[in-house]
Amino acid sequence: MDLGIKGKRALVCASSKGLGLGCAEALAEAGVNLVMNARTDGPLQAAAQDIRDRFGVEVVAVAADITSEDGRAKVLEAAGDVDILVNNAGGPPPGMWTDWERDDFIAALDANMLTPIALIKALVPAMMDRGWGRVVNITSQSVKAPIAVLGLSNSARAGLTGYVAGTSRQVAPSGVTMNNLLPGIHATDRAVSLDAGVSKQQGISPEEARAAREATIPARRYGTRQEFGATCAFLCSQHAGFIVGQNILLDGGGVNSTL
Ligand code: NAP
Repeated sequence: MDLGIKGKRALVCASSKGLGLGCAEALAEAGVNLVMNARTDGPLQAAAQDIRDRFGVEVVAVAADITSEDGRAKVLEAAGDVDILVNNAGGPPPGMWTDWERDDFIAALDANMLTPIALIKALVPAMMDRGWGRVVNITSQSVKAPIAVLGLSNSARAGLTGYVAGTSRQVAPSGVTMNNLLPGIHATDRAVSLDAGVSKQQGISPEEARAAREATIPARRYGTRQEFGATCAFLCSQHAGFIVGQNILLDGGGVNSTL
């Protein structure tokens, strides 16, 4: 399917690896020029060059912490006007509800709620002026079904979800759509490190830890960054202009709910 977005320009945050990289690759395959970002320059430059080589699109790579004000300013300056914004960053650490203090919540809100909101505020007005735009926020399945040890993530992402629900309806009349993608378990570095933690804790091999988690997913496997990226690219396509303010689960059926 031709996604109809060849020649558009996208900012994909936190995109040297994992789900962000999957989104960058799928957009590049559709002919979209990219601004990519991550904190560590080496893997970011390598991912950017790989995408240039494979898809022949323009890629600007900006090493910066997207959750800091300075980092965002650097990325926004390099990005200029974009047609597509994919919001992403690392998730808050796990823990116990009794341990989290105000500062822990402020840090989580800053990274996973206020950072995407700041980027939306910076970039969406020009999209509205041009009458076309796409915003996709990578959140988590924990928005639909809480993961208790990720209480900081549950809280910050629920806040962003509420903001997107209202704001998406305010910008839709100008041709800008805003939606959230909710990953379940995907085979990224993050999943590997979670499996390594379980393996150490329970005295089992990483393969056994992965198999035990896969058994809890109806699809009996982890998702891939490629299928996640393809969904993101579709949401950014010309065909998805009527999808507004939605929360789309990609979890192999992991969240057990009817709606
Ligand atoms: P990942 O494989 O660890 O990749 C994270 C990417 O983001 C890397 O490119 C990393 O590069 C970059 N990054 C992290 N923090 C950043 C920051 N502050 N500023 C700029 N770049 C940053 O992670 P992932 O699995 O793709 O997860 C992406 C998001 O989805 C996270 O918020 C995660 O909590 C959420 N999620 C993932 C899953 C899953 O199963 N994978 C499930 C639910 C939710 P640098 O380290 O060099 O900055």
